[in-house]
Amino acid sequence: MTHISMLIDGRNVPSSSGATFERRNPLDGQVATVAPAATPEDARAAVDAAAKAFPAWAALGPGERRAMLLKAADALDARAQDFIDAMAAETGASGVWAGFNVHLSGDMLREAAAITTQVSGEVIPSNVPGSLAMAQRVPAGVVLGIAPWNAPVILATRAIATPLACGNTVVLKGSELSPRTHGLIIESLQQAGLPAGVVNFVTNAPADAGAVVEAMIAHPAVRRVNFTGSTKVGRIIATTCAKYLKQAVLELGGKAPFVVLDDADLDAAVNAAAFGSFMNSGQICMSTERIIVDESVADAFVDQLVAKTRGLPLGDPRQGPVVLGSVVDMATVERCNRLIDDALAKGAKLLCGGKADSTLVPATLLDHVTPEMEIYREESFGPVKPIVRVKGVDEAVACANDNEFGLSAAVFGRDAARAYAVAQRIESGICHVNGPTVHDEAQMPFGGVKASGYGRFGGRAGIEAFTELRWITIQHAPRHYPF
Ligand code: NAD
Repeated sequence: MTHISMLIDGRNVPSSSGATFERRNPLDGQVATVAPAATPEDARAAVDAAAKAFPAWAALGPGERRAMLLKAADALDARAQDFIDAMAAETGASGVWAGFNVHLSGDMLREAAAITTQVSGEVIPSNVPGSLAMAQRVPAGVVLGIAPWNAPVILATRAIATPLACGNTVVLKGSELSPRTHGLIIESLQQAGLPAGVVNFVTNAPADAGAVVEAMIAHPAVRRVNFTGSTKVGRIIATTCAKYLKQAVLELGGKAPFVVLDDADLDAAVNAAAFGSFMNSGQICMSTERIIVDESVADAFVDQLVAKTRGLPLGDPRQGPVVLGSVVDMATVERCNRLIDDALAKGAKLLCGGKADSTLVPATLLDHVTPEMEIYREESFGPVKPIVRVKGVDEAVACANDNEFGLSAAVFGRDAARAYAVAQRIESGICHVNGPTVHDEAQMPFGGVKASGYGRFGGRAGIEAFTELRWITIQHAPRHYPF
């Protein structure tokens, strides 16, 4: 069991009320982490600290910010085993998923370091003689980041890295399900020598999330909010941000379609479908959530996918390497079981896996899924995957778009131009031709459409999200006035 602190103004602190909350391991129920249960006053103090640190951090040259972000990346890499242990203890994640989390997060910090010199602007021709007119990107102020547990290192690092690179200061609100894992990122940043208040860390008991988050969004110093999590909570965040006129980036749920066209390379499609469906037991926003297969190749594709899926190892990640570890909680098990029951009652065929009575949920495939079944539309956020058989390209596209979400998607076809034409018709923020739905890189514009949210993290898009664009002029010659 690990006791952790919050970080406010460079100091490791408990909650001002002394209250704590526990995160238990999803498999054996043992207490993994004890963390401070912040009060709204603690949350406001964290924003105050970030506001105090903002002018000096914003005024720092890009070289100094870059050096610290690069050091933080090295510090994070050096603690890879601590992250792997913390994720296994708090969320039941496999080592391969935790290792990937650390690797991509290091990359995100290095990419953020690189963009410190890209926060620039342009000179715009003015109609006023002697007016030098500029559009300048400048730091926005305090950025509030709210991250979930499922890709805890990646999603909390991206909530912090680009905002810091742009000269903002940050408050990270950790997940109640992975406070230790989120705290390790903060420790890595502290090791890099960030001045007090540049990064602050708040943890809260689940019941206090609404009050703690609203206290921070309402704080006048908070100028940007970024939230990664469910669409349900995303709507609450969007409503609160609207109330206080705060700009938000919202990265919400997904139901990624994986389209297999009649000319697909089936070996490649099977590997990508298995990876996208079952990495982290399907608990990734980009997870393949609907496998849409042309009926002419469906039998062959399904046979191969079932053979591959049956061989995926499932178990407690603390005992040895697995592909599928524990899912995060029994609510996930109950949701997956309900989706299986509903689909089977309405005529789906169970190909492998099935219902579970613990958080070790097997990789499960359901064939002949139809729109009447709940799993056709609802995000499983677990290792239970529907296969929908369609006839031709138009039916495949219609099925892919027949959903409220629009985050990631994939299309497999040997004729890349034809597959690309299909990709163009899919309503999603991200689409990969002949690649898996699960794919993230620090420099790419990451985000969704429809109920998957709005705004983009990553690369140049991230600079736009976390800076203010100002119009500045210098009148360098006498100016004519009408009176
Ligand atoms: P969640 O929405 O339940 O929780 C996320 C955060 O919201 C937590 O930090 C929690 O404290 C906070 N929260 C809860 N209630 C709140 C309230 N009333 N007011 C303010 N904040 C509140 O999400 P989760 O279950 O932890 O994560 C899974 C979901 O996240 C899935 O739907 C998944 O698709 C989505 N997700 C999206 C992305 C993306 O990039 N689009 C990435 C990962 C996960």
